[in-house]
Amino acid sequence: MAKYKVGFVGLGIMGKPMAKNVLKAGYGVVAFDFNQKAVDEVVAAGAERGESGKDVAEKTQVVVTMLPNSPNVEAALFADNGIAAGLSKGKAVIDMSSIAPKASQSFAKRLGEMGVEFLDAPVSGGEPKAIDGTIAIMVGGPQKTFDEYKPLLETMGGDVNLVDTVYGAGNITKLANQMIVAINIAAISEAYSLAKKAGVDPESVYKAIRTGLAGSVVMDQKSNKIFSGNFEPGFRVELHIKDLQNALDTAHDINVSTPFTAEAMEILQSLKTYGHEKEDHSAIAEYYENINNLKLQK
Ligand code: NAD
Repeated sequence: MAKYKVGFVGLGIMGKPMAKNVLKAGYGVVAFDFNQKAVDEVVAAGAERGESGKDVAEKTQVVVTMLPNSPNVEAALFADNGIAAGLSKGKAVIDMSSIAPKASQSFAKRLGEMGVEFLDAPVSGGEPKAIDGTIAIMVGGPQKTFDEYKPLLETMGGDVNLVDTVYGAGNITKLANQMIVAINIAAISEAYSLAKKAGVDPESVYKAIRTGLAGSVVMDQKSNKIFSGNFEPGFRVELHIKDLQNALDTAHDINVSTPFTAEAMEILQSLKTYGHEKEDHSAIAEYYENINNLKLQK
């Protein structure tokens, strides 16, 4: 069966390798970003240059968006010369950005009124997995739309799940993921601080507990960054602040109390106050170093 053409809007840390994987799988890609250097790179890999969101949507069957937050997706879709201006009945938009679930629902409704299908499909795994094509993709939207575009999503991800047929379910899942990760990094940093002040080597504590009940992927991936004091991102503090803000807003909208998320948010905010917003979120350990006057770095 001939493959349809795919539009790609948003070619940042994640979008660029994801678009390249779609190309590698044999789909035609039309790409657009404000950053022309990023577009040049994807064009060099075989994509066609899009002149605007509208141009991308006119030339393709489905448009993938990979943008920072809800207002960016709204602008990419609905601003002058945006994607919506080039869409028509039967086409689709798959938004893979991590945004507020309420925004996903609003975009699904507005596009649905035009006869355009929608999925929210945020991802987890970071740049290395985006390059490998093994990111986890968590999807919300109709089963039929998911079935239609699952092969496309599988060119970018190793684990593609329709979480629920409710729009926004993908982003609710992503917020849950981000809450758990932030709280975990804080718990690890807090426990290592206790060990350090007690005169017990935190790295030895890590090695002793990593295969027990407290062990986790977060513990394995972040402990070495904490002990090396290397907070190169990875996943930036400022992006995690964005996600926890969306988590808190969503929770408060539907009357859910999330005290640990609020605490983790304040720790990240304090890091930003001290100019650490471009560092990896494992820099949460630096907050604990400061309030406890100690160093976890070896
Ligand atoms: P990024 O800041 O590197 O890239 C965003 C890109 O969008 C930029 O190139 C920017 O020029 C472009 N852009 C913004 N508005 C635009 C518009 N209206 N039209 C066209 N282009 C526009 O961000 P990223 O790290 O690629 O993250 C994208 C999304 O994926 C975010 O929601 C993020 O939270 C999520 N995410 C990131 C990671 C990670 O490790 N970086 C991991 C999982 C999920």
